[in-house]
Amino acid sequence: MKFDYLIVGAGYAGAILAERIASQLDKKVIIIEKRNHIAGNAFDYYDENGVLVHKYGPHIFHTSSKKVYDYLSDFTKWNTYVHHVKAVVEGKPVPIPFNLNSVYELFPKNFSEKLESKLIEKYGYGLKIPILKLKEVDDSDLKFLAEYIYKNVFYGYTLKQWALKPEELDFNVTSRVPVYISRDNRYFQDTYQQIPAYGYTAMFEKILNHKNIRILLNTDYREAIEYIKFDKMIYTGPLDYYFDYIYGQLPYRSLRFEFENFNQSQFQEVGQMNYPNNYDYTRITEFKYLTMQKSINTTVAFEYPQEYIPGINEPYYPIPRDINNELFSKYKAEAEKLDGSVFFVGRLADYKYYNMDQIAGVALQLFEKKIANIR
Ligand code: FAD
Ligand code: UDP
Repeated sequence: MKFDYLIVGAGYAGAILAERIASQLDKKVIIIEKRNHIAGNAFDYYDENGVLVHKYGPHIFHTSSKKVYDYLSDFTKWNTYVHHVKAVVEGKPVPIPFNLNSVYELFPKNFSEKLESKLIEKYGYGLKIPILKLKEVDDSDLKFLAEYIYKNVFYGYTLKQWALKPEELDFNVTSRVPVYISRDNRYFQDTYQQIPAYGYTAMFEKILNHKNIRILLNTDYREAIEYIKFDKMIYTGPLDYYFDYIYGQLPYRSLRFEFENFNQSQFQEVGQMNYPNNYDYTRITEFKYLTMQKSINTTVAFEYPQEYIPGINEPYYPIPRDINNELFSKYKAEAEKLDGSVFFVGRLADYKYYNMDQIAGVALQLFEKKIANIR
């Protein structure tokens, strides 16, 4: 049997493209996935204590794209979940993104009032300012505040997460969590903040449930590719691996998760607690907040950042910084030579720090513009 498309990877990019090609073009697809499950890094499962957990770290769906939300809504019902995060600063959990409430939690009332009015006067209420931008302020009180936030919220966390200082990464990494001049404690401000009601894996099962889609698990694509006949390929794995590391290794960052179950109904006061300054882990996530599961016990995950070593651990994050972007562009030039026969897409193949909704949007667009040629 010959397949129209061979797709490497059953994460968002691979699964959405498989679904579109199968359902809209009535073409045959085979997905090759090296893990023993679908759903990529969004994979969730019930642990031995019966608690639904996210194997590769906490996944909170949020988007302002109606197109992406509507598309995924065909495959899942949703639970509304608004993510709240706190970071422990000088022993005290304060709201993150750092906002006016965080100011009042940490400083005396008079000084907080002064900072609040200066922030509103200079930037306006409701504005979001990346910490590296706020650090450039010239007012001495605001400068003090910026240095305080930088030191207590960003510096230690970033050093643990990336083994780099905030300014050694692309500006947009720490800008993901800007200082927010407001009283809004939500981690995200997107229009849609919802989690698949039966979990991500169940949503992927529905996406992939089509007569034109076959899935081969537990297989690196290289082990199978010579035995499978296909016309075109979509590759969602690491780009350097595809090209046999010809220009050297593209750096990714890895993590180690430690899951722990507690015989109590709740472990911490919010879904995610960050520890910028203490311990070797960056954050603890309590899954029940995200999944809204009711149970007498609870499971949490501690995240320990690690260097990525191919074949040993997982490439979770591209590391966005100039030197890596330059290396990526060499691989990208190789990828472009194959345009039309192999499509490269995904967080690993595009070397981009995509959220789930972003990669879903990119996959839908690739389908429309290049695969189905819909104008
Ligand atoms: P992936 O999900 O990585 O899928 C790629 C698949 O390809 C994998 O299953 C892999 O096994 C397979 N593969 C790779 N190489 C090969 C090969 N050689 N042969 C066969 N198969 C191969 N996004 C959010 O929106 N909200 C969040 O809260 C959030 N939290 C996150 C937390 C963590 C710790 C991480 C790491 C990511 C988080 N994300 C979050 C991002 C989200 O995981 C990604 O946006 C999304 O998974 C990207 O989908 P993808 O298909 O590009 O890649
Ligand atoms: N960050 C930080 N302190 C925090 C939260 C975030 O320094 O309390 C920085 C850190 O560099 C982190 C980046 O902001 O890697 C992006 O944070 P986000 O929560 O978006 O990370 P992700 O959930 O993608 O791991």
